[in-house]
Amino acid sequence: MNCFICNGRMSFYFVKDFKGACGLRKVEYWRCEVCGQTVSKTHFDMAQSDWERLNQRYHASYQRTNANPDDPRWMERINAQASTIANLSKNGFLPRDNPWIDYGCGDGKLSNLLNNAGINLLKFDSYMFDSERDYVGEKSLIKNHYDVVVNTSVFEHVRSINVLDEIAGLVSEQGVFALHVLVVECVPKDPEWFYLIPAHCAFYTNKSMQILFKRWCFKASVYHVESRMWFWFKTNVNAVKKFVQAKNDNAYCFKSGFMDYWK
Ligand SMILES: [Zn+2]
Repeated sequence: MNCFICNGRMSFYFVKDFKGACGLRKVEYWRCEVCGQTVSKTHFDMAQSDWERLNQRYHASYQRTNANPDDPRWMERINAQASTIANLSKNGFLPRDNPWIDYGCGDGKLSNLLNNAGINLLKFDSYMFDSERDYVGEKSLIKNHYDVVVNTSVFEHVRSINVLDEIAGLVSEQGVFALHVLVVECVPKDPEWFYLIPAHCAFYTNKSMQILFKRWCFKASVYHVESRMWFWFKTNVNAVKKFVQAKNDNAYCFKSGFMDYWK
């Protein structure tokens, strides 16, 4: 098996027994010997239909509610994300010439919050609610078109680089990628690790994220600690750097390249 991020050799890492949760039994996790990216080989080997059923089954359990037992800070984080996005927008760091989109928006909580603040964030989700009227359909997505692409808790559910390329490829030339995903220096070799939930199949490291960052030609990134969100920039880098430096607090962290906050 080769790594879907860097194509490096992957080797068996550990196994976790889900004891029937979401139909899962023993799940094998494999780790890239080059970038440390870890994936569930069991999930990667699943037929597409089984994979979709698993995602639907898992997400239906908490979407349209205000609590996810696997993610107790969910609503708190979404509120923080909305205010951080609104703040960066107010300061002119998020262009508004072209539409914004939340790719993988679930039931649209973040979009609804921002819409209430007067910021229009389109909704798209492959698995949920795509038949509803205020969602953009898959065929209507436009490459290199959106000035802000928001993506929260999606990367963990992805089995191929093509899907990641499609998401990042939606960002316009001047656009910003606003990303929430768990990133670690090294995925712990521990079946009890909190992030090993039934619907997560891919686990990212600072090294694998830096590879993606470069692949998609981003220049600098800002991490906002409270909202657990990265903002990846292609342009406007010096102004962003000055803004973060002028803030003189630890809420925002700037780096040329991928901001490897979690080490
Ligand atoms: Zn790799």
